[in-house]
Amino acid sequence: MNIEKIEKIADSEPSFRLKQIKKAVFHDLIENWNEATTLPKNLREKLEKEMPLEISAEVFPSKDGRTVKAGIRLEDGLLIEAVLMKHTEKRNTVCVSSQVGCPLGCQFCETGKMGFKRNLMAMEIVEQVLFFARSLKKTGEKVTNIVFMGMGEPFLNWENVKKAIEILNDDNCFGIGARKISISTAGIIEGIEALAEEFPQINLAISLHAPDDKLRGELMPVNKKYPLVKVLRAVDEYIKKTNRKVMFEYVMMKDVNDSEEQAKKLSKLLKKPLYMVNLIAYNPTGRFKASPSERIKKFKSILEKAGIFATQRYRFGTDIEAACGQLAEKR
Ligand code: SAH
Ligand code: SF4
Repeated sequence: MNIEKIEKIADSEPSFRLKQIKKAVFHDLIENWNEATTLPKNLREKLEKEMPLEISAEVFPSKDGRTVKAGIRLEDGLLIEAVLMKHTEKRNTVCVSSQVGCPLGCQFCETGKMGFKRNLMAMEIVEQVLFFARSLKKTGEKVTNIVFMGMGEPFLNWENVKKAIEILNDDNCFGIGARKISISTAGIIEGIEALAEEFPQINLAISLHAPDDKLRGELMPVNKKYPLVKVLRAVDEYIKKTNRKVMFEYVMMKDVNDSEEQAKKLSKLLKKPLYMVNLIAYNPTGRFKASPSERIKKFKSILEKAGIFATQRYRFGTDIEAACGQLAEKR
């Protein structure tokens, strides 16, 4: 499916048609053009021929049923992954991929290991949400939140991510409010600036993972181009413009970044208004070990004593390799 194609087909139609088509696909969640009864039959036939609505996907539910991973096959045969996390009946979050693979090569991340294949088109991002929205519709539920925390670096595919956000946001389509959408970045400064400018209501998360440049540079090669001071300066500018909270993500790796000394260093670095820290349990991808929960607790308490708001992220779907950093194409 391809949004440009929809626009092109609608071009030769009266102007209200595009709105009707979008509503049928993204709001009414039709799975077959014949269900789009507001459209004339010849248009439906044309759409069926040129733009079939099927999404080719394989699903993997976790044992507890709260997480579902979908492997979605793209038109060129590449595979991406999206994850549905069911927090409650009223809160269903979809974690979407923005690229096939990722060029940034973080040492702890499975997606980073597979390298970069290509950017996703806007529609390929939206399709991931569409897939889960259709399945939730069967039980009367909806996708309520979106996180750009799947494969890829969203700010390195900003034009397409932006277009996807517009569709997700549009009341005539998914109608998901900007405050229910979060973007996580490894620290691409131009992206942070663009977000403040263009979508000040969208939540920003920064993948930090280390309290100093030396360690961060070892774990995340992108730190050479965007070192900590520059990233934090961009975050401060973002906060000045938007007055929004910013979440710093910190994956806890045993004997790598989880010592008391590092917790103190991190406290100093991040003790600012509207800064929050989210400690994430490391999902083993081979190279490192996860910090024991005792150590995570200790780390968190040091941050809290220093006056920093810190949370620990619930681990979703480790049994289906749908957890963060495990989203990679498996043959
Ligand atoms: N490229 C963006 C968004 C996708 S990664 C970014 O890096 O922020 C989404 C989150 O998963 C990031 O915080 C990332 O650091 C984290 N992550 C990567 N590998 C992980 C692993 N093995 N265990 C736990 N979290 C991981
Ligand atoms: Fe890319 Fe994010 Fe994985 Fe780093 S953590 S390799 S930026 S997807």
